[in-house]
Formats: sequence, C-alpha cells, structure tokens
Amino acid sequence: MGRRKREPQPVFTTDPTGEHHGGLPTFIWKTAPPGYLTRRQLSAKGLRPGGQPVAAQVRRGGRIALLYREDLAKPKFTLTDDKLAAVWIAALSRQRCAGPCGRTALGYIPKQGAPCWGMCWDCTDQAREREQRNAHG
Ligand SMILES: [Zn+2]
Repeated sequence: MGRRKREPQPVFTTDPTGEHHGGLPTFIWKTAPPGYLTRRQLSAKGLRPGGQPVAAQVRRGGRIALLYREDLAKPKFTLTDDKLAAVWIAALSRQRCAGPCGRTALGYIPKQGAPCWGMCWDCTDQAREREQRNAHG
C-alpha cells in the first residue's frame, strides 16, 4: 500500500452547552433537539427567524448549519387574500378614469394632465367632441 495515511480528522461530538464552541450549542447533523430548525426548515413551515439570535449550530463534515428556535420564530410575511385585494384596489383606484365612464382600467389611463386629464381615451375623445361641438355653437 503506497497510499499515505490521511491526517486524522478532528472528531466533533455533540456539545449542547456550547462549552467548546464559544457558547454556541453544537450538535452533530440530525442530532439537534426538536424545536431547533435551520432557516430553510423554518421557511418550509412558513416561518422566519424573526430577529432572534442563532440558537445553535449543527456540523456535518466541514459544513455548519445555523439553527433557530422554532418557538421564537415569526410567521413569514405573506400577502393574505385580504391584503392582496387591498393592494389591487389601491392600484385600480389610481387607474380610475376621471371621466364620465369611471372605469378602472389598469395600465390604460394616461398620466394626469393635458391632454387627457386622467381620463381614458374614450372619455377624452368624447370630451374633445363635446368641446368641438360647443366651439361650433
Ligand atoms: Zn373614461
């Protein structure tokens, strides 16, 4: 056997008090106690760390994953149907035609001011026709 023997890897053992890891509780991969989750695992449950400090870490070979406490996690910010509807209504109200039709047409109403005054093209045309009729008596 010509192969040189590898350097012995340092053996990591579970360190629940963090005594050997600067006070950070350290566990071997998949030996973390329940209630300690990675950011990704929290996310899968619809949670986020929510500003809490890192609660522990797990080691897997040379890789380290940070763990957070599930009981301190906060729900991820998600748009509920109500909030989504409010956003839509707000967006639509900005797109409401100022003319007689009063339609809401997202992306359809030209910007405020001349020549359209916040009206849709139909109302602008009608207004122009009226103006012309009035001008001609
Ligand atoms: Zn209109």
